[in-house]
Amino acid sequence: MNNDIEKVLYSADDIQAAIDRLAKQLTVEYRDKKPLIVSVLSGAVLFTVDLIKKMDIMAQIDFIDVSTYFGGTATTGQLKLIHDMTADVKGRNVLITEDIVDSGRTLDYLVKLLKKRGAKSVKTVSLLNKPEGREFDVNVEYYGFKVPNEFLVGYGLDYKGYYRNLPYVGVLKLSVYSED
Ligand code: 5GP
Ligand code: MG
Ligand code: MG
Repeated sequence: MNNDIEKVLYSADDIQAAIDRLAKQLTVEYRDKKPLIVSVLSGAVLFTVDLIKKMDIMAQIDFIDVSTYFGGTATTGQLKLIHDMTADVKGRNVLITEDIVDSGRTLDYLVKLLKKRGAKSVKTVSLLNKPEGREFDVNVEYYGFKVPNEFLVGYGLDYKGYYRNLPYVGVLKLSVYSED
């Protein structure tokens, strides 16, 4: 185990079991819909890759990157489109794949954007769902685990860009933060 990790919440096996279950549900839901799967960079990449390999359907994959916009010294809470997707979503059944839904700000922005662009349907699958953090009224139709209101890392989730490549999800030791 990585030395900076206090405890593991979801092991690699736990995660793969959750993905198996989600992939089965999504295979039924999207069998005849030829969905466009939109993965949110960078955190959702590991989840997306493992999930789509287990979905036995015709699907296309695209990527989008949004991040919180920092204006001056304070966070405005506004989101900025860092990297747009390439596919045309008009008339498509879109499935957004996320690592975690916390406040819901990112998802709220994305769902509104994709609907405005003419998507036929927009649904979300997130590996993790942190309902206690919610500030925006968003739907997470499919998720792997409901998580406590803690800062998590691993399996896509980062701290300062690191720890994304851990095969499990865990909590960092306090000493990692206090070194900053
Ligand atoms: P939102 O607040 O918009 O729902 O979540 C936005 C982003 O915040 C997530 O995609 C994720 O990158 C980050 N985030 C939220 N909770 C956590 C967490 O517990 N750990 C990490 N590493 N990132 C988080
Ligand atoms: Mg994310
Ligand atoms: Mg992050």
